[in-house]
Amino acid sequence: MVRGTWLEQSGQRWKVGAFFVGMGVSGALFAAMVFWMTASDEMRFLKLPLAATTVGIRAFFWLIASVRCGSCGGRPAWHAVQKLDHAVWLQVLMFAKACPICAAPAQPVR
Ligand SMILES: [Zn+2]
Repeated sequence: MVRGTWLEQSGQRWKVGAFFVGMGVSGALFAAMVFWMTASDEMRFLKLPLAATTVGIRAFFWLIASVRCGSCGGRPAWHAVQKLDHAVWLQVLMFAKACPICAAPAQPVR
């Protein structure tokens, strides 16, 4: 029996962690915007949501571009986003026991 998830075995679990950090920063920036909702500084209301959106989008696209399969060379995160329901793609990616594209066991990423 194979121990650990495909992401762990391929040494790419940290990428999901970095994705969550990026999403946390994005959420914190949105929270800061709400916190300062009564302030009169209009630029703050422009910069905070722009920064929050930018960080969130970058974290998302970085994750789907950076997770690679050492066997098929594909991008399993992108595959999961395209093929699976939006509510489950990340869960499927995080807990997969083999590559979501080719079903191969984890290989070192080239
Ligand atoms: Zn693969």
